[in-house]
Amino acid sequence: MAEGLDFALKYPFSESAREYIKDLSLSERIVDLGVERIKKALSEKSSPRMLLHESDKKDEIASFASARMILGHLRNNFLTNRFAVNESKIIRTQLDRDDEQTINRVGAIFGIVTKSEGKRLLLDLPTYLRYSLRNPHYRLINRKLYSGFVEVTPDEKKRLIEEAVKKHIENIPLVRDPPDLIKQAGQKLLNEIPKSESRIIIKVESHPPCIAKLLEEMKKHNNLPHHARLYLVTYLLAIGINENQITEMFSDLPDFNEKVTRYQVGHIKKKGYNVPTCATVMTYGLCCAVCRIGHPLNWPGLNEKKGEK
Ligand code: SF4
Repeated sequence: MAEGLDFALKYPFSESAREYIKDLSLSERIVDLGVERIKKALSEKSSPRMLLHESDKKDEIASFASARMILGHLRNNFLTNRFAVNESKIIRTQLDRDDEQTINRVGAIFGIVTKSEGKRLLLDLPTYLRYSLRNPHYRLINRKLYSGFVEVTPDEKKRLIEEAVKKHIENIPLVRDPPDLIKQAGQKLLNEIPKSESRIIIKVESHPPCIAKLLEEMKKHNNLPHHARLYLVTYLLAIGINENQITEMFSDLPDFNEKVTRYQVGHIKKKGYNVPTCATVMTYGLCCAVCRIGHPLNWPGLNEKKGEK
């Protein structure tokens, strides 16, 4: 029983977690814990709380549900994405500590069921594609395929589960008319958090469509894949935006980490990476128009607009 409760506590999106809290009623304490859970995501605290008592554990499980209700009511992309990123990081920490049997149990919730063939761990192609990361390492061209199955390492399997959890949490259904406790908590939360206005300091419409699209994604606080970030940084540096300004702009991203971003932007500048050509941007899957300009920096009027950005 306690073991089952601990599993539910660690994996609050599981069916077993739902079972544990199905008879609990929504209380002020549970809603407050839900708010705390969301605030924790904003301060990027990804360590789980240590709880000993059964009732505390159940309240903590229920706090996940109340946090989702609050977010489903607020429909705030920034908060939801930050929450999804943070919760999935917590899950990854748990998976790293858990045994293979538990990892398989969590993976099965999302249909991530691998089979072993000799030393190989294989995942069926549709599931792999559903949760695959937008990162060159996970592209099929760089993977070993065996009759409709993709070989993955145990670590990649955990990364795919982490991604599945993130997607699951991002997909919070709209909560139209929640209980008053949830409405009040949502309002209080909005009043307390720093305003999440976009920090994009350039005119989106003055730049090529591929760049404008990435900037729009950032404005909506949606995550960007690795190559998109690299492309954007080289482009912004090339048009004269400085490292501090770029770091500030990237703070719109839900998984923003100032130290890491500052380091990466500095690294790209130091290495002097060129802005990729349109042909290369196309291979990244980021080209979204037929501009026939060969290179994004040839975008009409860009040179004259550099001064005004
Ligand atoms: S053609 Fe070039 S500039 Fe235009 S959207 Fe594609 S990559 Fe961007």
